[in-house]
Amino acid sequence: MKVNLCLKCQEKAVYHRKYSGENLCPNCFNNSLIEKTRKTISKYKMINYGDKVAIGVSGGKDSLALLDILIKIKEYKDFELIAITIDEGIANYREEAIEIALNAASKAGVKQVVLSFKELFNFGLDEALMNRKEKKITSCAICGPLRRRAIEIGAKKVGANIIATGHNLDDILQSFMINLFSGDVYRIKAGDPRKEAKKEFMIRRIKPFMEIYETEIAFYSFLNELRFQTLECPHMNEGIRTEIRNSLDNFENKHAGIKLSLIKSMFEICENIKLNPKQLQSCNICGYNSSSNPCSTCKTVEYISELTRSSSLENR
Ligand code: SF4
Ligand code: ZN
Repeated sequence: MKVNLCLKCQEKAVYHRKYSGENLCPNCFNNSLIEKTRKTISKYKMINYGDKVAIGVSGGKDSLALLDILIKIKEYKDFELIAITIDEGIANYREEAIEIALNAASKAGVKQVVLSFKELFNFGLDEALMNRKEKKITSCAICGPLRRRAIEIGAKKVGANIIATGHNLDDILQSFMINLFSGDVYRIKAGDPRKEAKKEFMIRRIKPFMEIYETEIAFYSFLNELRFQTLECPHMNEGIRTEIRNSLDNFENKHAGIKLSLIKSMFEICENIKLNPKQLQSCNICGYNSSSNPCSTCKTVEYISELTRSSSLENR
């Protein structure tokens, strides 16, 4: 049987990068992913010397791989790293992820803060969903804004000036397509992962894996024996995201590299859309910067409180 050799060092290859045709050994594969992340960070000036970076560590493969790689990059670039873990209150799912996240942060010697929806918003996600009669609003549409805000609160609490998340190329393209299909071009612009915070008091959000395929992050996690949660969130298939993910994967299987072309198109679109002035306003309730007033977090909290109120009236 023909053994493929690593393009860079001629050792036995274990990974075939279809879009570039490269065969890579474990060492060169690892180095290529670390190098790609480092280049993205430097290209978009994501982290500077002395920055305090709060990394969202959920216990999934992307956030754990990001933690692992940022620790390696930190050896050459001086910045502080603090893990933020959010407990949304999803029974039989989040408990294991939190335990994995705690272990990973302690193994990495990184300080960690764990915050729950319950303590921040007064309800856990399971409780919030219990009173929802119709599923017009998906669980992720409720969970997403609250999670983002919870990480932001955690980052402020530890005095971080940057939030790093493990969103990869696939995540970014899925969000792009969702916004494209819903006709919301301003959201495409708002979701540009290259953009910096618009206001000085805001914490910058960075996505160092934005140009890396999800499959490569999964392979990195496997090669480096990172322990991550494999159980999927029970709500993950409620929206259109899974359908878009499957379609994009089908395209990529038939036309290797198409995802990289798609993100280029997304960047091009972002360059050509003027920012909606409304996107620069602050929420009247919480004061956070938002594209709407009230912001999506305050609207979600109000929506859940309203559901709880009507449900307790009905039960009287
Ligand atoms: Fe929350 Fe949806 Fe993610 Fe589950 S899949 S943790 S509901 S955003
Ligand atoms: Zn608000």
